[in-house]
Amino acid sequence: MGRLDGKVAVITGAGSGQGAMEAELFAREGAKVVATDMNDEHLGELLERLGEQYPDAVIGLRQDVSKEADWQHIVEEAVGTFGKVDILINNAGITGITEFTLNKLTIEEWDKVMNVNALGNFLGMKHVIPEMKRNGQGSIVNISSLTGISGLGGLTAYSASKGAIRTMTKGAARDFGGDHIRVNSIHPGYIETPSTEYLTSNADIRDALIAAVPLKYLGQSEDVAYAALFLASDEARFITGEELIIDGGQTIKE
Ligand code: NAD
Repeated sequence: MGRLDGKVAVITGAGSGQGAMEAELFAREGAKVVATDMNDEHLGELLERLGEQYPDAVIGLRQDVSKEADWQHIVEEAVGTFGKVDILINNAGITGITEFTLNKLTIEEWDKVMNVNALGNFLGMKHVIPEMKRNGQGSIVNISSLTGISGLGGLTAYSASKGAIRTMTKGAARDFGGDHIRVNSIHPGYIETPSTEYLTSNADIRDALIAAVPLKYLGQSEDVAYAALFLASDEARFITGEELIIDGGQTIKE
């Protein structure tokens, strides 16, 4: 028996990194998966791989999470194909240009990052929640970041967008608990995916990142995906508004 048997999950940014791992893990655990991404090539590769292993369980759809019309389309397709939406993994995100300190950040760059990360996350919740209410329950997992709690120099827009996700999560958890909709956020530290290659491909930076982690390795996509699986599943039925840090102990507090 799978941990997500009978569930329908929408996973954004599923063409790469953590989202691709979540799509695979959720299908393995019995979910029907609506995998979305704006990168057709990556999405195509994922569908080819999962289509063989899990025929009829996974569909892929092109989506820009910052576009409201795309969200309407995704929810319609999910319900049209699988009948409902039980789970949303709001995973798609971009880092933006990384060398800008706050005083050099342009409005264009701010808007770009905020639109994908914060607006995209908000629109996802806005459009799945009516369907979850109709369905009588749901679980939303918003992928924030450690930077959404502590901020990170040079990543002003990214940190702000991830902080917005953290607090939107708690507000939505309060608003929709009575509808049996749980909303939680995940805050990964450094995870080895294409989005961190600009850091991990440099041996000195990589060593420094690992040195800062008590568990002494860089997080892998499955480390986040298993946490998303738990929060998405009924095993976490009494958990909402929670923020789960996955950082190998990097920010252990007293
Ligand atoms: P990734 O770059 O490997 O994958 C992100 C995916 O999102 C890509 O397939 C990309 O095409 C897609 N995407 C980007 N913009 C989109 C848009 N507008 N609409 C739809 N899809 C879009 O990244 P990842 O490292 O797997 O990150 C996944 C999530 O985890 C992101 O939200 C990221 O901010 C967050 N995160 C990552 C780390 C890390 O160290 N990798 C740490 C903290 C948080």
